[in-house]
Amino acid sequence: MQQLIQSQRDFFNTNATKSIAFRKQQLQKLYKVIKANEQFLMDEIYKDFKKSEFDTFTTELALVYSDIKEAIKKVGKWSRHKRKRTNLTNLPGKSYIIPEPLGVSLVIGAWNYPYQLSFAPAVSAIVAGCTVVLKPSEIAPNSSAAIAKIINENFDPSYFKVVEGGIPETTALLNEKFDKIFFTGSTTVGRIVYQAAAKHLTPVTLELGGKSPAFITKTANLKMTAKRLIWAKFINAGQTCIAPDYLLVDESIKEEFLGLLVSEIKKSHFSIDNGNYVQIVNTQNTERLISMIDADKIYFGGKHNLEKRHIEPTILSDVLFEDKIMEEEIFGPILPIITYNNLQETIDIVKSMPKPLSCYIFTEENTTKNKIFNEISFGGGCVNDAVMHISNSHFGFGGVGESGMGSYHGEEGFKAFSHYKSILDKSNLFEANIKYYPHSEKKLSLIKRMMGL
Ligand code: NAD
Repeated sequence: MQQLIQSQRDFFNTNATKSIAFRKQQLQKLYKVIKANEQFLMDEIYKDFKKSEFDTFTTELALVYSDIKEAIKKVGKWSRHKRKRTNLTNLPGKSYIIPEPLGVSLVIGAWNYPYQLSFAPAVSAIVAGCTVVLKPSEIAPNSSAAIAKIINENFDPSYFKVVEGGIPETTALLNEKFDKIFFTGSTTVGRIVYQAAAKHLTPVTLELGGKSPAFITKTANLKMTAKRLIWAKFINAGQTCIAPDYLLVDESIKEEFLGLLVSEIKKSHFSIDNGNYVQIVNTQNTERLISMIDADKIYFGGKHNLEKRHIEPTILSDVLFEDKIMEEEIFGPILPIITYNNLQETIDIVKSMPKPLSCYIFTEENTTKNKIFNEISFGGGCVNDAVMHISNSHFGFGGVGESGMGSYHGEEGFKAFSHYKSILDKSNLFEANIKYYPHSEKKLSLIKRMMGL
């Protein structure tokens, strides 16, 4: 590890990665390498949890391709010096900020979208001009090996290298000094990463998880809400960091809405055999999820097959905030429904929980929408939809509090791997003498006047 990181540091110090042409070239190369190996990547992820080609393209590769294309198009603009206003005290002069790459970066990925969560942060690192050590998750072993193969066969390790492994390898990497660590995973491991980074004062981006609520108010368009929520919850069999974890449903519309949810599940034909559904990633997670299903609260579904790592799309109704299923992020195809009569009380309970990664509000009414926005702190979200905000790279994606810090995609990703030097560029035309010794009352009052104080 030490040798690898030193070789990346040496390469970074040649300044090669600072050239815009180099960055574009590497991004184009990454695009071509992924494209040329698209079928291979699809075959390998299928071995991990039977993810279909449709889902692999739409939820993994499409986002990476569009991030790369945008990065190539915008790298010049993002890397330019940006003018800032100069304050009166510093005239005559110019002020600007210069983005510079942080240096040698470490990207640690999660398994649930193994390609997207490895390649997208790597794109941000490359466009910013960093070198990359990428450690995908060992929990999706075939996808991790596929990433390692296509990158390590095509890139110089002193610039971009994939290191495979689990806890021991990640711990060894975290002992080394990086200039940036970008981590996607659980809040528990996020804390370990943050502590390790603190030793070297390395800046971090932490993309973590949590329990993301969805509010379904009485003015919501229930049919559309059910359709969008069932897709958002059961895509990837619920193994999505921004999946609606649980629903908060106005009591007055509960019966009608639950009926619509069930009919949407039926219409969706979720089956691993037809490619509309995926397996749970491993036996341990399947067991964990099965233990969360309270048989007394099953409204729909609930059947499972441990050997096949399959759990039916499941709806639990009459759930209470005190129930076991509300203790941790579900990260699987179980959807608990909590009903409410009093929106304010419900908002207060959500506020007492860790800040979620996402929050979704289904309503036709601005007051309710604005009230929830104003009161609850969360990473990002949607009104009348769920999950889809991740597909808009015009804004950053990230959490807050226990759901993470920092954001990425598009220009936010560039910023995550950059430092902005603030430069005052002084003219030699003349120099006001007021700051120089000897001090005088007159100079002091002039300074106060100039500063408006
Ligand atoms: P995880 O935290 O178990 O693992 C993430 C990475 O950390 C893996 O590469 C793993 O090898 C490494 N790791 C695990 N234990 C470690 C340890 N003790 N020391 C050092 N490294 C360690 O998470 P996961 O199971 O892969 O992913 C699920 C979690 O990730 C969920 O909480 C989910 O919400 C979250 N997630 C967040 C986002 C996001 O963008 N915010 C995206 C996907 C997943």
